[in-house]
Amino acid sequence: ELRKFRQRGPFEWEMPSTGRMRVPGVIFASRELMEAMDEKVAEQVANVASLPGIVTASYAMPDAHWGYGFPIGGVAAFDADEGGVVSAGGVGFDISCGVRTLHTGLKQADIEAHKKRLADVLYARIPAGVGSTGALRLSGPETDAMLKGGARWAVKEGYGSEADLAHIEESGCVAGADPRAVSDMAKKRQRDEMGTLGSGNHYLEVQLVDEVFDAAAAQAYGLAKGDVVVSIHCGSRGLGHQIGTDYLREMVIAAPAAGIALPDRELACAPLKSALGQRYLGAMRAGINCALANRQILTQLAREAFAEVFPHVRLPLLYDVSHNTCKEETHRVGDERRRLFVHRKGATRAFGPGHAELPREYREAGQPVLIGGSMGTASWILAGAAGTEERAFGSACHGAGRAMSRNEALRRWHGRNVVDELAARGILIRSPSFRGVAEEAPLAYKDVGAVVDAAHRAGLAVKVARLLPLVCIKG
Ligand code: 5GP
Ligand code: MN
Ligand code: MN
Repeated sequence: ELRKFRQRGPFEWEMPSTGRMRVPGVIFASRELMEAMDEKVAEQVANVASLPGIVTASYAMPDAHWGYGFPIGGVAAFDADEGGVVSAGGVGFDISCGVRTLHTGLKQADIEAHKKRLADVLYARIPAGVGSTGALRLSGPETDAMLKGGARWAVKEGYGSEADLAHIEESGCVAGADPRAVSDMAKKRQRDEMGTLGSGNHYLEVQLVDEVFDAAAAQAYGLAKGDVVVSIHCGSRGLGHQIGTDYLREMVIAAPAAGIALPDRELACAPLKSALGQRYLGAMRAGINCALANRQILTQLAREAFAEVFPHVRLPLLYDVSHNTCKEETHRVGDERRRLFVHRKGATRAFGPGHAELPREYREAGQPVLIGGSMGTASWILAGAAGTEERAFGSACHGAGRAMSRNEALRRWHGRNVVDELAARGILIRSPSFRGVAEEAPLAYKDVGAVVDAAHRAGLAVKVARLLPLVCIKG
């Protein structure tokens, strides 16, 4: 099936623009990853390429797999002045799902004897699983303040410190959030879900830096071999999901009148210059702030848990990056600088060295790119590569990517066995759901090493450090 593609580099495959496509499709991957890739990805990349106002190409990252409308691992940028659109399915239902990584200042030897207790204390303090609720109850006005303020709001409420904000995209708060564009239903669903991990592939993981690949970037990020770090992966919970559901429905209904012919209903979108498009952007940005606030609250809970086991340990934030967003950014296209709306769905922003939006201490190294692997394999920290803005609007992969469906994983594995096998390897899993653990079994994912290697060799992001799991609190 690789016949559809023209290979334009060892890790870059172009699907020429045919039929309704307005631009080519481009997949970044090795030949092996291409051969194993879900066939739906190419189809979905081509569908996205047919949307109005798309610029340069419709991209997929090496971890790409089938998603709702857009592939997960999809990147597409649109120009409002050329009829460009915003798509709810192009952002994803878990708006601003993302990863943040915290330093602990501990070395592997420091935690070995306390690992079990640490796992239990974290599990007791971090609400995880379907329908889990947090300690916080927000009133209507408080909810609106949270939706406008993001992590900045959370810090004001006593969760974490001002210093955290500099190490979050957009300094912890995206502008242009419009709480009025968020339905009451969405707000209601979030009422007791602030500071919760959620279910599925969301996790809080204690990890060991087991290898450093780029000494200069690792130093800039404050990482050394043998360090223990904590990564938190979660998003905007019920609120984000409801925003996606609400607007998808509206966009499907409004598309014909807006002159948009959808190759797939799941690609429902609205012109950026329409009232609906603007309303969605306002709601989606509120969803981003909700996710940023959520990860900020969880950070505080993680700090309290660590303090219980290691009284003198602090957990400064390395970085927080989202992988389900649509962001207005300036990019060079040919000889011009253009304002574009970049959808990254299951794709991480990965600005290269020198980018003005990066915190000063990371500017030379490039943006930290935080990538999950699985609870039994490696996760990775990369750095945005030089020239990455010209490749896929400054984007990289966000994980290993699923190699099979959740149902297939359930047929193959039992959660209890997965937990036991990992425990025998010294990896402690704590989860309210064995079913969830089976769905997320390490072998249900692609080989993260191969995915990261492809991103590295395609020039999207540079390998900095490999992390191994020690403790995983799983939703
Ligand atoms: P997604 O955002 O698409 O839901 O998941 C992002 C990535 O997280 C997945 O592609 C997968 O590689 C990774 N992942 C899923 N579960 C775990 C886990 O328990 N631990 C780690 N480290 N990564 C995981
Ligand atoms: Mn995610
Ligand atoms: Mn998510």
